[in-house]
Amino acid sequence: MNNKELLQLTATYGSPLYVYDTEEIISQYNSITKAFANVKNVKINYAVKALSNINILKVFKQLKSGLDTVSIQEVKLGLLAGFDPKDIIFTPNGVSIEEIEEVANLGVQINIDNLSILELFGQKHPTIPVCIRINPHVMAGGNSKISVGHIDSKFGISIHQVPHIQRVVENTRMHINGIHMHTGSDILDIDTFILATEILFNTAKHFNALEFIDFGSGFKVPYKEGDISTDINQLGKQLSKRFNEFCKEYGKELTIMFEPGKFLVSKSGSFLAKVNVIKQTTSTVFASVDSGFNHLIRPMMYNSYHHITNISNPKGKERYYSVVGYICETDTFASNRRISEIKEDDILCFHNAGAYCFSMASNYNSRYRPAEVMLHQGQEYLIRKRETFDDILKNQEIIDFS
Ligand SMILES: *Cc1c(COP(=O)(O)O)cnc(C)c1O
Repeated sequence: MNNKELLQLTATYGSPLYVYDTEEIISQYNSITKAFANVKNVKINYAVKALSNINILKVFKQLKSGLDTVSIQEVKLGLLAGFDPKDIIFTPNGVSIEEIEEVANLGVQINIDNLSILELFGQKHPTIPVCIRINPHVMAGGNSKISVGHIDSKFGISIHQVPHIQRVVENTRMHINGIHMHTGSDILDIDTFILATEILFNTAKHFNALEFIDFGSGFKVPYKEGDISTDINQLGKQLSKRFNEFCKEYGKELTIMFEPGKFLVSKSGSFLAKVNVIKQTTSTVFASVDSGFNHLIRPMMYNSYHHITNISNPKGKERYYSVVGYICETDTFASNRRISEIKEDDILCFHNAGAYCFSMASNYNSRYRPAEVMLHQGQEYLIRKRETFDDILKNQEIIDFS
């Protein structure tokens, strides 16, 4: 998408606006399948929570992807998008047994991440196949909010509790058809990932009726120049070889699974916001946009970097700005950032805004959530309307206290 096209879209649909180019999604998806071409059975389950618009899910359906879901609502979105329940895996954390049962009844593969529900589920439904989420305790990266496989993490059943899992399986005679790990987003080098996969292979040997091993995600994408990204081809080369060897040892052709979110959709997205005010203070120049952490919270929540360009004046002289929002709260998108000269009414583009951006948006300050546009095979589609005042009031009961 070039600047002119993006400007045209804000002229048509207003700001702030999310735009997704499916060409990027398709190319990222194909890069994974290509990297694992030497494994016979490969299944990519797109992690819905990264970007959950139903039309994006339909694009994944066309690609023959499966889905990784974390709530029954995501499962229902997937079914509505036309996915076969068999192509959906449910990997929640801390949800009730009732929700897990409801999802299992829909025919979706469930993945259990704690011993108490595993035991209960096994007693009640010994014939329903279950995948187990293992915590291999590999410290994936520097940011503890997004590395979920380490020792203090709430996710998964500890690798040290495998004997306990085995006892539960023996006692209940339940059917374990898969094992899973998801160590987090910040895998900085392939060796760390491979280390975790070895732990999972070792665990897999304890279960004799597996159909798949799910290595979760952890695929990193660059957000700024110099960022490390996962070398998918190298990972594919190393892990494919090891996986094929393991299948021989195990005596069965298993399916290798992954569930990337960010890797698949991050780059496809651009977030466009209009500059309302330029404010020169004694220390900096603020550019305030018609948005805030109600629409894009990653910089504030995770200290994430999003590259920002001024698409209204891309060739202007570069100056330093603090880009902030219009929320009554500190909502700094970027400080001391070099951006080509900004005037009021210019449109700023936040890059890599496909993953965990719209899906984390809220109505804070009673603002509307933005519209979403998808560019797909040469066509543009409004895939979500901007909210209106009715959306703000929806579900509020207006009570007459007189
Ligand atoms: C969020 C999540 C993912 C996707 O993680 P990314 O960093 O977006 O690739 C995969 N698996 C599970 C279980 C998740 O919760």
